[in-house]
Amino acid sequence: MKLAVILPAAGLGTRMQRTTPPAAAETTGISRKQFMLLEGAPILVHTVRKFVASPLVHDIVVAVREDDIEWVGDLLRKESRGLLGDLKVVAGGNARQQSVENALEVLGNDTDLVAVHDAVRPFIDLDTIRRVVEEAQVTGAAIVGIVPVDTVKQVSGAQAGGARVRSTISRERLILAQTPQVFRLDVLRRAFELARRDNFTGTDESSLVERLEQVEITVVLGSDRNIKITRPSDMDLARLFFEHEAARH
Ligand code: C5P
Repeated sequence: MKLAVILPAAGLGTRMQRTTPPAAAETTGISRKQFMLLEGAPILVHTVRKFVASPLVHDIVVAVREDDIEWVGDLLRKESRGLLGDLKVVAGGNARQQSVENALEVLGNDTDLVAVHDAVRPFIDLDTIRRVVEEAQVTGAAIVGIVPVDTVKQVSGAQAGGARVRSTISRERLILAQTPQVFRLDVLRRAFELARRDNFTGTDESSLVERLEQVEITVVLGSDRNIKITRPSDMDLARLFFEHEAARH
């Protein structure tokens, strides 16, 4: 079984409020969440380390913005020692989906399974990686998700304020989708082809694969520690989780 991991890391971090002027923020690596420093190393590096440490992973492809390819390649070269196959850095696109699609193009046809994981989720654990990969080996498509703790409402009107409650969605019928999301290479390629043909944009790979007939995606329960570092407050949580991880080792 040959497993490749795609890490989309070409986002601009528009939901992370900037307190530093953009140019200065870029050079100090604190502007975009995937490059923010956590205990001295960019978040992307922490995420890469998790997958390099997994004995199941063969290749890793990281998608970054064109201007970042060189320095990120230099940064990750030493991290990839110990990886069974190659670590490649490719140019991402303007949408996450495009970044993943660009990475998908460089994968060898001998790849069996592809795991897509947000570069900004550095707290993924090896056991969850193993469980979702093993599930996808059996079913062809599996994602990590958690059960919501809040009560979820369907609303109409503005999202940010003034929304009106229309109904309550039973929690039993909900899963919050995380990553990794793991698919057989042919399944994921077909899903991207169909999305391109229909001009469909999704916020994760599962939403593309769901559109294929006769493919059932199974869910592996994950952890609420597998946060997607998105907003400024997530960095406070990230520091705390990192301390816990370091203490455990
Ligand atoms: O913006 P979002 O929360 O969906 O970002 C999830 C991941 O996708 C991040 O790691 C981000 O860097 C990546 N991304 C990307 N290319 C984009 C936008 C987001 O690789 N154009």
